[in-house]
Amino acid sequence: MKLPLVAGAATRVCVAATFSALSCLPAAAQQIDYSKLEIKTTDLGNGVYLLGWQGGDSLILVGDDGVLLVDTSVAPMGDKIKAAISKVSNKPIKLIINTHAHADHFGANEALAKGGASIVAHDNLRERMARGFTAFNQAIPPSPPAALPIVTYADAMTLHFDGETVQLFHPNNAHTDSDTLVHFKRANVIHASGTIGGDGGYPFFDIGSGGSLAGMIVAEDKMLSLADDKTRIVADEGDPASTATLKASRDMLVTLRARVQRLIDEGKNEDETVAAKPTKDFDATWVHQGNFVTGDTMTRLAYQSLKGVAPPTTPGR
Ligand SMILES: [Zn+2]
Repeated sequence: MKLPLVAGAATRVCVAATFSALSCLPAAAQQIDYSKLEIKTTDLGNGVYLLGWQGGDSLILVGDDGVLLVDTSVAPMGDKIKAAISKVSNKPIKLIINTHAHADHFGANEALAKGGASIVAHDNLRERMARGFTAFNQAIPPSPPAALPIVTYADAMTLHFDGETVQLFHPNNAHTDSDTLVHFKRANVIHASGTIGGDGGYPFFDIGSGGSLAGMIVAEDKMLSLADDKTRIVADEGDPASTATLKASRDMLVTLRARVQRLIDEGKNEDETVAAKPTKDFDATWVHQGNFVTGDTMTRLAYQSLKGVAPPTTPGR
């Protein structure tokens, strides 16, 4: 389908793109038949499992303490997430972490927290959910109280659960303004909160939701500082990325930033910057079939981010 992706308040920053398998879009924008989606469960070791589908992939940590769930998916997928969890644990969901303000990461909160789970997220995510907001031109209504995070944090937080140390880090204005990177230390797994591309594609940042190119680089640097050569980095879809892929993504973003900044300094406007094809030698690696983020899309996003063509990041403003 054709869908205008508005990455800023003004129409000049629209990017028309073809979406097929696109994560991180609100459910209403994706027109996906969720009844047909299956969840693929992958054992990542040490009680951590990846619950993969065509969207905001979830992670669970299971053990004697119960179940810790990272991201609840869209509302129509809630029962499937529950069923997938029940195949690996008969314990209740005790803790839920929402990684960011896209509906495929918190949409089933109310249903999955019903058994008494506490929801944890960044301060900005609770604020966005409580007020309601717009993402990808779709209005997300205020969440009911039962769906809201009851524990929020500003910069970092550590949870101790099932014998695992779960570290939460907030990179400012990266994929969105409400990202949480989730590091399972013992399992050596990081949930990237959308700050790395799915299946090795270009990473996407949502300027309209407070994301930025500079923040993405900071987020990827943070994850690199936590990783070793065996770390699995979970994107929104697909198999987990390796540290080598994360490093390549970070280096690509840094080079892209320098190239686009140079074109801006030369006085090029957005279309002229796109026409200069600063991603030309990257596209063979980072453009994947089915991924809406093309080289030109990346260039526009980089240009808009570096020029500060962004709407206010404070929810409700
Ligand atoms: Zn997202």
